Amino acid sequence: MSAVRSEIHLLKAGACVHPEAAALRGGSLCPVDFPALTALILHPTAGPLLWDTGYDPAFFRATRRWPEKLYALATPVTLGEDEPAARQIGRFGLTPDDIQGVIVSHFHGDHVAGLPAFPNAKILCARAGLEQIQGLGRFAGVRRGLLAGLLPADVEARAVFFEDRPRCALPAELAPFETGADLLGDGSLIAVELPGHCPGHWGLAARGSDDRLWFFVGDAAWSLKAIRENRPPPAFTTALLGRTDRYRATLADLHSLHGRAPEVVLTPSHCREAAATAEAP
Ligand SMILES: [Zn+2]
Repeated sequence: MSAVRSEIHLLKAGACVHPEAAALRGGSLCPVDFPALTALILHPTAGPLLWDTGYDPAFFRATRRWPEKLYALATPVTLGEDEPAARQIGRFGLTPDDIQGVIVSHFHGDHVAGLPAFPNAKILCARAGLEQIQGLGRFAGVRRGLLAGLLPADVEARAVFFEDRPRCALPAELAPFETGADLLGDGSLIAVELPGHCPGHWGLAARGSDDRLWFFVGDAAWSLKAIRENRPPPAFTTALLGRTDRYRATLADLHSLHGRAPEVVLTPSHCREAAATAEAP
């Protein structure tokens, strides 16, 4: 990883409600809040980028009709007026037109709902993920958490695929993860495949301007607690969306990374503990 540092701001763009047991084996059946985290990454030469988008008013538009409405009913979403990423970037003097790229962990609605809000952004993503959302019908997509209506019409023209970027070595702290995709060609932002949650699911490693090493892990883990305790969700949740065996192998690798390098800022997208460190909207 290069010496280039980015200014990283963790933001929370809405939340949804699920029974805890859906995300943590042995968890309670009580509904709990799952925040949707996103990050503004101010890169010194590439400009302002986002890691995922979290929720956005576009989510409500995309789930107004059947069968998409099922998605909104299954996971009720709360989104404050000032919470969408497109609003929060205003605090940094930015407008949605300024965002140069959105780095997408995967195409579930809670991660890409804001894509329509950033018309100039390159969409940095896994080809495997884009192919899945484009290839499924509306019913099959909704069952897997995918809302094709959130994809901008020109997504193909704006897409930059992780699979096509040059490979580069990850810093030793991220072992057992060894290599990733060098997104900008300067070794500063490295996408790392984290298989299991769904097809084309990747994380992102970036060095912050405060020198901390961030590892955004998307939905490879629901919480830091799950990583610390190596405690996966129940198999019915992981089998519905992805592959349980691969999910568990990825979680075990994150557990091992955390044990060896606790200073790495591991950031699961829906972790309440991580969300407590997000900047207020
Ligand atoms: Zn998610």
